[in-house]
Amino acid sequence: MEETKENGQRKKEGPKSGVRKSLLVVTLIPLIVFCVVIVAVSYQQLSNAIQSEVEFGLKSVAQSATYIYEAEYPGEYSYDSKTNQIYKGEKEISGMSEQLAQLKAITGADITFFYQDMRVLSTITNQDGSSVVGTKASATVRREIYEGKQEKFYAKSYLGETPYFSYYCPLYDENNKCIGMVFAGKTSAYVSGVVWHGVLPVMLVIIILMVAIIALITVYSHRMTSALGRVRRFLIHVESGNLTAELSRSVLARKDEIGDIGQSAVQMQSALKELIEKDGLTKLFNRRYGEKLLNEMRKENQVTGEKFYVAIADVDFFKKFNDRYGHDCGDLVLKMVSSVLKEGVEPKGHAVRWGGEEFLLLFYAKDLSTAKKKVESISYKIRHRAVPYQDEQLSVTITMGFIQGRGELSSDELIKGADQALYEGKESGRDCIVYNEIKNINDDQTQTQENEKEIEIESEENKENE
Ligand code: GH3
Ligand code: MG
Ligand code: MG
Repeated sequence: MEETKENGQRKKEGPKSGVRKSLLVVTLIPLIVFCVVIVAVSYQQLSNAIQSEVEFGLKSVAQSATYIYEAEYPGEYSYDSKTNQIYKGEKEISGMSEQLAQLKAITGADITFFYQDMRVLSTITNQDGSSVVGTKASATVRREIYEGKQEKFYAKSYLGETPYFSYYCPLYDENNKCIGMVFAGKTSAYVSGVVWHGVLPVMLVIIILMVAIIALITVYSHRMTSALGRVRRFLIHVESGNLTAELSRSVLARKDEIGDIGQSAVQMQSALKELIEKDGLTKLFNRRYGEKLLNEMRKENQVTGEKFYVAIADVDFFKKFNDRYGHDCGDLVLKMVSSVLKEGVEPKGHAVRWGGEEFLLLFYAKDLSTAKKKVESISYKIRHRAVPYQDEQLSVTITMGFIQGRGELSSDELIKGADQALYEGKESGRDCIVYNEIKNINDDQTQTQENEKEIEIESEENKENE
């Protein structure tokens, strides 16, 4: 009971996405993490490399500026507080010099000279184009460079609101007293731009690869799960008793485990079909399935009017046969009889094992004479097909009763009609075929009996053949 409930619930839930979800989780998440890490690491590495390069470059610029002024204008730096002017030797160097402008053009770096901690000479300009002079260095820079007499690189120092990568070199007088410093710097925005310029192609390649891999994994997982879904739906059909359900060819054509599962499911379906529909010994349809077939033929006859016939065949004196040759030999004979019956009626009919040594034949024929020929031929073949057993060639005969099927009659009535004819055949000496012509369902028993016709094949054609 529990199980039935569970099954019902499972069916209602519809297709599951568990496998697909797990597949996507175990592939996509590591992939995305991997790509993010690669981008982050390459950004960091490139950023570090470029920062070192920038530091080295700025150091060279600051030192070059110092040397240029040393070479160009020999003498000491001095400051005239009255005129607010700075001198190198005799040369007044306030504002922006031609040399520094050229150095900036070549290196892309801004240069500023500080006298003590005040900007006196700079390539950096205000919005109005005037040189940024007269302002002071930050307290940290002043302490670390000017007072500490140390060259130093800053990855972030501010001029106003603008962050800079900067390099400071202290300037000395002849007494080795620090009288100022030289700044060389590039804006952080410029350096970041260079870093991004390097990282962007890497990122683009990674993103394109990632999108392609995600698309590939998604398509692949979709195909896989939809194939699994097909197998699942097929199994649900089989589970609910639909033994004619078909599994998609695309699943069966797969060369992977899903294809194997599909093949096994189809094999399981046909094994189940065989177990449910067929008789174990003879491999003919069993009685239950025979009843279903008869019902279908009746219904079809009511719709299409196509003529069909119902025959019951019974092996003659089979008990004696068994007694004489044994049950196993009897089984061999039943198999032989079954195969002749099957060959005889298929493909336009069905052979059914109705009981022990009794068989039901259901077949289409265009008229009575064709139907008679068919059953006669079957009977003849059985009589003449010997079964080798030990040193003997054994054969049996059958008696058969048959009628024309009519949709408006019930299955029981049709079977009864064929059975009556079989009984007549047995009564009249066996190894014969009796046709029972039922004219009207409402006819009483007397009428029916009047309409019976026996066809003594044995006594006429067949015996002549022999
Ligand atoms: P009749 O000509 O009147 O049909 O005589 P009969 O001996 O064939 O009929 P009866 O009904 O007396 O016996 C049927 C025998 O069929 C009895 C049973 O041993 C045998 N039989 C039924 N099923 C099997 C089977 O599966 N294997 C074998 N070997 N024998 C079977
Ligand atoms: Mg019998
Ligand atoms: Mg019998």
